[in-house]
Amino acid sequence: MTRVFNFSPGPATLPEAVLRRAADEMLDWHGCGMSVMEMSHRGKDFMSIFAETESLARELLAVPANYKVLFMQGGALGENAIVPMNLIGRTGKADYVVTGDWSKKSLKEAGKYGAARIAASGDASNFTAIPKQSEWKLDPAASYVHICSNETIGGVEYHWTPDTGSTPLVADMSSNIMSRPIDVSRYGVIYAGAQKNMGPSGVTLVIVRDDLLGHALPITPSAFNYQVQAENESMYNTPPTYAIYIAGLVYQHIKASGGLAAMEKHNAQKAALLYDFLDESRFFTNKVAKADRSLMNVTFWLKDAALDDEFVKGAQARGMVQLKGHRSVGGMRASIYNAMPAEGVKALVAYMKDFEARHA
Ligand code: PMP
Repeated sequence: MTRVFNFSPGPATLPEAVLRRAADEMLDWHGCGMSVMEMSHRGKDFMSIFAETESLARELLAVPANYKVLFMQGGALGENAIVPMNLIGRTGKADYVVTGDWSKKSLKEAGKYGAARIAASGDASNFTAIPKQSEWKLDPAASYVHICSNETIGGVEYHWTPDTGSTPLVADMSSNIMSRPIDVSRYGVIYAGAQKNMGPSGVTLVIVRDDLLGHALPITPSAFNYQVQAENESMYNTPPTYAIYIAGLVYQHIKASGGLAAMEKHNAQKAALLYDFLDESRFFTNKVAKADRSLMNVTFWLKDAALDDEFVKGAQARGMVQLKGHRSVGGMRASIYNAMPAEGVKALVAYMKDFEARHA
């Protein structure tokens, strides 16, 4: 068996130890005679898996007691509708900070449920920088302010937490959740699809402050109503049980590896290997403002796009896959989430150096 270095933006590489443990437990979980996939979500075995997964999510992210942790379905794009359905009804208005493709999508979707407006946009920099808070035009009557904490396609990331005063801050953290410690108390709602740093696709982690429950628009489907899901401990309908179980194994792995502080250190070191090389290269470039560079998704361009295919094929031949950038921006992208080992990044940088020497 040969595992490749998988630089996919998501679903993304998972810790090998987690996959091995899941394989060991596949047919018979802890002697109960069945797979987690086959268990009733209301039985004591799955309930114990669920309780541990939730408690680890709370512990790793230091979630305060006045927040609910929900495991939902519909992915982050589902949350683009679920957030306004649950929150916009408070005033009918919401502010969006647009920093790339994912926040653009969030804004567009919210417009179906109320008056969603742009409070700030990175368009002047062609989305290569996060607009400074001093440039934001916030509406004091907005029900919430929405940001995307890491734009997976453009590779721009907030390395600071916006201050939105008494207006709740809502963040799509799909591609940087659990990559470093965060102060949950600064947010009203945090949501993230699991398929980058937390497990397989199919489950969305949602963290909601208690006072934001109970404001859903009447059209909100019950399964997407935060209050209904909170009252039913995420089991109003059948939750994505297997995805939750794997997320729990990933959380155990993160905890055993030193928690989010250790993830932060490891991620900063990995990203520096790539950015330092990009800064000294005369052949590869990164276009993102230094202060806003993503530690999770490193975008880069070859001097000559005609060489892109050769670069991707050469990487593949060396066991490095999924490096092609998103079709909307072109170039390359190395997604280096928690589970990407430093060896993967070192192998990529060595290959890039070699490629440059051959083509410069
Ligand atoms: N937001 C961000 C930041 C993402 O990276 C993605 C997926 N790559 C999404 C939203 C959409 O997530 P999903 O496909 O789970 O709906």
